Amino acid sequence: MIKITDILSLTLPELREQMANLGEKNFRADQVFGWLHRQRVESFDGMTNISKDLRAKLSENFEFNRMTPVRILESKTDGTVKILYELKDGNHIETVLMRYEHGDSLCVSTQAGCKMGCRFCASTIAGFKRDLQPEEILGQLYETERVTGRKVSSIVLMGIGEPLDNFDNVIKFLTVLSSPEGTDMSLRHVSLSTCGLVDKIYRLMELNLGLTLSISLHSPYDSKRSELMPVNKRFGIDELIKACRAYFEKTGRRISFEYALIEGENDSREDAEALCKLTGGMPSHINIIPVNKIKERNYRSDRASARRFCKLLNSMGANATVRRTLGADIDAACGQLRREYETG
Ligand code: SAH
Repeated sequence: MIKITDILSLTLPELREQMANLGEKNFRADQVFGWLHRQRVESFDGMTNISKDLRAKLSENFEFNRMTPVRILESKTDGTVKILYELKDGNHIETVLMRYEHGDSLCVSTQAGCKMGCRFCASTIAGFKRDLQPEEILGQLYETERVTGRKVSSIVLMGIGEPLDNFDNVIKFLTVLSSPEGTDMSLRHVSLSTCGLVDKIYRLMELNLGLTLSISLHSPYDSKRSELMPVNKRFGIDELIKACRAYFEKTGRRISFEYALIEGENDSREDAEALCKLTGGMPSHINIIPVNKIKERNYRSDRASARRFCKLLNSMGANATVRRTLGADIDAACGQLRREYETG
């Protein structure tokens, strides 16, 4: 058998099957899975109750790659840690650990770069390189817990990349993450953020995984949204909202809408009214985020405007809050760290 798969990417049934092909019994596969995802060994040699022969066989047949933290920025004010990881092929991705009252939340990347082209987003400007493999998404959790010594209690797929554009690998990641014999994270503690790939939202809905779907909306109008987010030309707002309704009806999970407030672009009273109308027909929550400044664009906003806009939405009956700003002293909008590192 040739070495193809990274062993961290395999679900337990897959690992059992592949190890059966090597003449090993299921309980051995279960032990190996535990070493990988519970004890979190860093190499095959760490699997101390597995014979040397089997460890050698595993390392002949599977890859076991690690990612290297090449920059670690730690906020002095609120416990946020931002880590730039280098992957085995030299690509870079970002991971952010945030501290909340209910526990630590990890924001993971799903692609090296992004193809979606949102005007305000640094990840897009830096260009798309490739999809991340399941083990590279999982590795962000394992390495970050190791590096920081902290325990992650929830995960948001909101880092670099469009998770639904890397659908199969993301689903595989979620399957391994929630495996009871491994990390055993309930997918109720996971949020997936998408710019709105409607066909994939339906596929996700059919899987009924219990995770929270976050929609990056940013404008209630097709013309403005298409200008800010080219994906809107493929899947317009009506189609998107229809998919959100269907998602709620099937899964019972309320939808979360992200709204990056940008001065003069999407912050008028009419915007607020249209936004309320659009999201009003289903249980939902709107997250207002003052747009994070990136140097290539003149987009701006501030917390006072975000609060004002949020109040306006509340007065119209919408369930909206302003997202807490974390790690302001290590400020680098998503994707900027990678870009600065790669362009020097
Ligand atoms: N591709 C996915 C997930 C990654 S982006 C998506 O589009 O949802 C994570 C979130 O950050 C999205 O809501 C995105 O619109 C938002 N975002 C990107 N750049 C931003 C910026 N400069 N300021 C505020 N939010 C931004």
